[in-house]
Amino acid sequence: ELLLQARGLHKGFGSTPALRGASVVVRRGEQLAVTGPSGSGKSTLLHCLAGTLLPDAGWVSYDGHRLDGLSADARTRLRRVHIGLVLQFGQLVPELTALENVALPLLLEGRRRADAAEAARQWLDRVGIAGRADATPAELSGGEQQRVAIARGLVSSPSVVLADEPTGALDTVGGEQVVQVLVKATRETGAALVVVTHDHRLAAWMDREVVLRDGQTVDTEADA
Ligand code: ADP
Ligand code: ADP
Repeated sequence: ELLLQARGLHKGFGSTPALRGASVVVRRGEQLAVTGPSGSGKSTLLHCLAGTLLPDAGWVSYDGHRLDGLSADARTRLRRVHIGLVLQFGQLVPELTALENVALPLLLEGRRRADAAEAARQWLDRVGIAGRADATPAELSGGEQQRVAIARGLVSSPSVVLADEPTGALDTVGGEQVVQVLVKATRETGAALVVVTHDHRLAAWMDREVVLRDGQTVDTEADA
């Protein structure tokens, strides 16, 4: 059963074409690696899937609902239900503690403060940094920041987690551990996972790989 479909995505920045007809499909619970060299359009594709960037042509749908057919409000709601984002370098709010960063998506959904804090505490425990709940991002190592970002991406039980270069900012061993945390956590919750990475080795941990080259995808499932 298809959860996410993206068809024929085109996106340019000025005269630079970042995507030139990229297509991807993701099934419920599937783990997909999108690999390709730097500049091939991976970040642009991820942001189109997240709805944070609108393609010039082509479309993205979740559960049969096309993002471009929705109002801004409806798109935001759909994003909250379906999509967990884990961005490069964590992109945590520097003024908030690890716990507050993880609780933030739940507070934005209108959950009670105590419930949000409890859920955030459980997620920090699941990603192995329960003891760092009160630290600010500046006090955390790169790997710890990425774990906080993973917890924040998963705390609202999304049906798919979109992750941008989870190993990007880290050394190899730390990077591998972070990806293991991400793979394990999504398998446990049943969320689908789309990892965008230049690191081809990561594909071995996923169910399937889509390769991006010069803004075009080779996805045998989407093309079928
Ligand atoms: P990747 O993630 O594979 O490195 P990107 O999606 O970041 O690729 O970039 C694809 C191409 O689009 C590159 O040539 C990049 O410089 C360009 N690009 C991406 N984002 C922007 C932007 N916001 N403004 C201008 N050019 C951009
Ligand atoms: P990646 O590791 O994915 O290649 P980049 O360093 O290329 O990451 O891009 C980081 C951010 O900067 C992305 O959000 C991307 O859209 C944006 N970006 C990339 N290239 C350009 C550019 N030429 N001009 C403006 N923004 C860019």
